[in-house]
This record gives sequence, structure tokens and C-alpha cells, in this order.
Amino acid sequence: MHELGVTESIAGIVLRHARMNGAKRVLKVNIKLGELTGIVDHYVAFYWDMVTKDTVAEGAELNFIKVPTMARCARCEEDFHIQEYDLTCPRCGEIASDIVSGREFLVESIEIE
Ligand SMILES: [Zn+2]
Repeated sequence: MHELGVTESIAGIVLRHARMNGAKRVLKVNIKLGELTGIVDHYVAFYWDMVTKDTVAEGAELNFIKVPTMARCARCEEDFHIQEYDLTCPRCGEIASDIVSGREFLVESIEIE
């Protein structure tokens, strides 16, 4: 369970940003969440309420933008969604070695007032 740590990191970024912009309140946080991270969004939401208690980010809505795990085939350059750890290119059958997305966990934007 590493959601507490990542939620604290995200809260730190959001609070720093809110302070720099003189925010009275954080309304919404858009978070890019890669499938490959294994991070479960509802745990993040649960910890969020805990780590932001009594801050300007308390009660902010978390919007998770799910990023699928995508690989790129070195032979035919097809991008495809990896499922069940299968890296076989659906177009040519080559085993892809290049993961191009799915590891993201970052604050994309925040909405403040
Ligand atoms: Zn291919």
C-alpha cells in the first residue's frame, strides 16, 4: 500500500501551488494516473481527505485521468494497449520492449478560487 505516500506528495504539490497563487480554496485537482502504477484511485481519494484536513485543499474534488499502458512495437511502430502483461504486437506478432505510457502519476492541473 503506497497510496498514502503518493497522496502526501500530490497534496504537497497542490498546496504549494495554491499558496503561490494565493488561493482561498482548491476546488478540483486533475491527476494523471497510469494503469501501470497500480495506484488505486479510491485509496488516494480516501487519504486525500486525511492529508488535506484543515488546509485550503480540504474537500477538493479529485479527477483521475486514467492513462492506459501502451507499448510501441519496434518492428512495425504500432502503438497498442497492453493487457494481462502481454507485450505481443497485435499487428505483426513481435514482442515489444518499449512501454510508452502507463507509468504516469502526476498533477496535471488544479482549479482554485
Ligand atoms: Zn508490430
